[in-house]
Amino acid sequence: MRIPFNKPFLTGNETKYIEQAVQSGKISGNGDFTKKCHKFFEEKYGFRKCLLTTSCTDALEMTSILINIEPNDEVIIPSYTFVSSANAFVLKGAKIVFADSYADNPNIDPSKIEALITPKTKAIVVVHYAGIACDMDLIMDIANRHNLFVIEDAAQAIDSYYKGKPLGGIGHFGTFSFHETKNIISGEGGMLVINDEAFVERAEIIWEKGTNRAAFFRGEIDKYGWIDIGSSFLPSEVISAFLFAQLESLDKIQSIRKKLWRNYHDAFSSLPNRSKIKLPQTPDYASNNAHLFYLTCADIKERTEIINALKAVDVLAVFHYLPLHQSVFYAHKHDGRVLENCDHFADSLLRLPLYFDLNEDDQQVVINTIKSVLI
Ligand SMILES: *Cc1c(COP(=O)(O)O)cnc(C)c1O
Repeated sequence: MRIPFNKPFLTGNETKYIEQAVQSGKISGNGDFTKKCHKFFEEKYGFRKCLLTTSCTDALEMTSILINIEPNDEVIIPSYTFVSSANAFVLKGAKIVFADSYADNPNIDPSKIEALITPKTKAIVVVHYAGIACDMDLIMDIANRHNLFVIEDAAQAIDSYYKGKPLGGIGHFGTFSFHETKNIISGEGGMLVINDEAFVERAEIIWEKGTNRAAFFRGEIDKYGWIDIGSSFLPSEVISAFLFAQLESLDKIQSIRKKLWRNYHDAFSSLPNRSKIKLPQTPDYASNNAHLFYLTCADIKERTEIINALKAVDVLAVFHYLPLHQSVFYAHKHDGRVLENCDHFADSLLRLPLYFDLNEDDQQVVINTIKSVLI
């Protein structure tokens, strides 16, 4: 592929820091680089407590343990999302109640949430699609009135904001991903943010296999042992050293991504009126972190035409998600409601190549090829 869909960006310091971690003689988890990463997030975004994890999927699983999900609890989740947003709760026996997106934005439509709440509902998971914030005031208000937990799946939402507040820092929990397709990467990797003080201590125990080992190494207790359920959720120092190199370059990475995002936006803003292609909407309350640039095509036929035209010039553009309520695993468990906006995005949303090293001449090839299909 001349222009791939994604290409992981390296700052150049990753291997230097990994070398340091290896030389230090401590390469298991919760060492110096892990602490540096935690400090970075806690200081830059004011997050109450951060814990690096081996993936966003794992961070979501930790929230499922922390809020004591039990069989038959219900969790409200958008259907237009990655499988992990739901799987973490299904693992504990929860029933997933899928919510629809807005008509003009793939995020969960808060006006559709309240009708889905029952006495068994325990939590709402929101996904900030493309790093664009969900309407968190409305969501937190619903959750507070019904005594529900809110988990922000902020996998795509690093360095993005809702009314000036950093995403991942508003619900009871926020979960981030550093998978190689995200803005900031460590190959595989993630982070749990704990915003509610009541969960801080237990989160650290679950993170360390159900032991109070972290408190022991801080000198807070004189021996450590098994005190709760847990698992091995923490990444090795090799991963956190890689991640720290990326975090040091966050501003540089973000400014390049935003420039590329604006190029696409400007180029497609001037399409003739008869084109039904729609650009991403950024509501007034949301910032844009340039995680991904997408177009909403008129229908699946137009999308296929564009993908094929791009393929012919060696450019890879992709689409997602197969709605979770229609998945092989969940379709027969879904209550049968039609989620028309979710289905529409599944059929018409098209993601364009966007990565740090995409040069502007190549980007122009993508733009011109799409325009040639539309005009
Ligand atoms: C990428 C992604 C995940 C999964 O992240 P991993 O770190 O790969 O586990 C979860 N939810 C959303 C919305 C994502 O985009």
